[in-house]
Amino acid sequence: MNRRTMIESPKGGVSIKGLRPTNMIVTIDGPAGSGKTTVAHSLARHLGLDSLDTGAMYRSVALLTIEAGVSPEDHESVVALACDHRIDFDWDVTPPRILLDGRDVDDRLRQSDVSEIVSRIAGIPMLRDAMVEAQRAIAARHPRLVTEGRDQGSVVFPDAEVRFYLDADSGVRAKRRAGEMRDRGEDCDVEKIRRAIEARDRSDRGRKDAPLTIPVGAIRIDTGEMSIEEVVNLLIRHVEAWCDSKPGSES
Ligand code: C5P
Repeated sequence: MNRRTMIESPKGGVSIKGLRPTNMIVTIDGPAGSGKTTVAHSLARHLGLDSLDTGAMYRSVALLTIEAGVSPEDHESVVALACDHRIDFDWDVTPPRILLDGRDVDDRLRQSDVSEIVSRIAGIPMLRDAMVEAQRAIAARHPRLVTEGRDQGSVVFPDAEVRFYLDADSGVRAKRRAGEMRDRGEDCDVEKIRRAIEARDRSDRGRKDAPLTIPVGAIRIDTGEMSIEEVVNLLIRHVEAWCDSKPGSES
């Protein structure tokens, strides 16, 4: 099957939707636990696009900081650590897994010590500049991309073909995170997770450089009452509508 020209429906069927544009960036932004990562991977799979988890890039630097015993407030040392180590993705697996100097740290990055400091790390302007550059370089190599984070539609790819903003009440988001942690066999306290998520929201929305906002022209979706499958289906419909609205599109 040519995954560039066919779209598998979430129910397993396949709908042929004519030739897709050779370049297509879809951005998904939103707060922690809004479902971005799962939705982005699933959307990418259904549309035959690559997917990029930009939060994992900031989390990798947070992990480096922890392992080196550096304070997140020591901006120079954090940036130096990021420069001295290699962060990339294994694009041969779906979804791509993040590699730190070739070491697969994907699961380690979700642990609470990383989550606790990542927002402070992500608030370092010089680090953000480097990450924005790296994300644009990735998009140049993977021009058919679903990319998710906090600033993808607002700062990194403001001209992306389709921009989404996913949101949900913090209580719902905390329950989702708790479910993910239980699936990984970790202990969790939903109320503690909710407080941590709200603190991260405040930090991500309040920072000076590239704060979390709804990108101009973004399609905003409250995922609180929706299943992942429903969200993915809705996003697929929006992307298809965009493709069909393009002059010269076939169907
Ligand atoms: O999406 P995830 O929860 O893995 O992101 C971890 C943290 O990385 C966020 O709380 C945010 O502080 C930061 N981040 C960011 N910009 C992005 C992606 C993530 O600031 N594009």
